Amino acid sequence: MAGNIFVITAPSGTGKTTLLKRLLKTDNRLRFSVSYTTRPPRPGEVHGRDYFFVSPEEFHRLKEQGDLAEWVEQFGYWYGTAIEWIKGALTEGSDLVFDLDTRGAEAIKRHFPEAVLIFILPPDLEELEHRLSARGDLAPAELARRLEQGRAELKEVPRYDFLVINDEVEQALEQLGAILTACRLRTSRVWPHLAPRFL
Ligand code: ADP
Ligand code: 5GP
Repeated sequence: MAGNIFVITAPSGTGKTTLLKRLLKTDNRLRFSVSYTTRPPRPGEVHGRDYFFVSPEEFHRLKEQGDLAEWVEQFGYWYGTAIEWIKGALTEGSDLVFDLDTRGAEAIKRHFPEAVLIFILPPDLEELEHRLSARGDLAPAELARRLEQGRAELKEVPRYDFLVINDEVEQALEQLGAILTACRLRTSRVWPHLAPRFL
């Protein structure tokens, strides 16, 4: 049976990458949906693991070929989700986790209504700015742009199924784990496997 679909959104700088990396290390049922982007890699990012880093020409070719389930332009770069990647993971039965902005989350929910949308919040906006600048990889104009976009994304919070505040990493991880466990135990997911044993 197809796996669960989790979509995680957070204003840039909240700590989503930090949490996802930890989650993926400890939860071996979870696979990360690797997006395509035209953004250059940050130090430590690996092609094929964090993103498929492609040229704008390659990105537009994929888009025109119909290889992308959804795509957005933001911060001057393109980001998109590969259809093949989703199909492969789901037919394998893995649970898939997407790291998407609010528009991407909406698109995935349209394609897969059973997808679970999780929004991660920073403790407050001051801390968000502090974390984003502490990461040290953004020019001031880009930093301002990401903060503005992050604030705009907060308007979409009510569309999400779950909210986690990333104040302490360990606590946020525990809460994410609890959400994943609860979603995996939904009757609609579990009963089809169990029913033959009882009926
Ligand atoms: P995002 O992927 O959401 O843009 P990152 O995971 O890159 O964010 O984290 C942004 C910065 O905040 C990094 O320097 C990271 O180490 C730090 N960070 C992440 N989570 C926390 C936390 N709970 N408390 C303090 N700093 C954090
Ligand atoms: P970053 O440049 O910090 O890695 O990502 C910037 C933003 O793009 C984040 O909000 C991230 O969730 C979003 N993003 C990454 N990949 C995709 C994608 O394939 N589709 C959409 N819609 N958003 C994405």
